[in-house]
Amino acid sequence: MQRIRRDDTVLVIRGRERGKQGQVHQVIPNKNRLLITGLNMVKRHQRQQDERTPAGIIEKESPISTSNVKLICRACEKPVRVSFRLRTDGVKVRVCKSCGQDID
Ligand SMILES: [Zn+2]
Repeated sequence: MQRIRRDDTVLVIRGRERGKQGQVHQVIPNKNRLLITGLNMVKRHQRQQDERTPAGIIEKESPISTSNVKLICRACEKPVRVSFRLRTDGVKVRVCKSCGQDID
C-alpha cells in the first residue's frame, strides 16, 4: 500500500524544489517516484511528430522520489507522517500521525 497517491497534496522536503507544494498527478508504480504538477520541470527537446505538434523545447515534470516528499494532511493541513489502520469493514486506510484523522 502506498503512502502517497494520485491527487494528494505534498510538500517537497529535499532537492531543487524543497519547500514547495504541489498536487501529485502521477505515481510511478514500483519505482517510488511521482510526478507533481508544475514541479521539477525539465526542458525536453521534442522532434516534430505531426503537423499539430511542432518541434521545439517543451517543459515536462520529471519524477521526484517519494522519500523526498511529505504528505499534506487534509484535516490538519500540515506535512505529516502516514500510518495505516484496518477499518472495521476490513478496508485498510491511511491515517495522519499528527492529528489521527483518516486520510482516505
Ligand atoms: Zn492530520
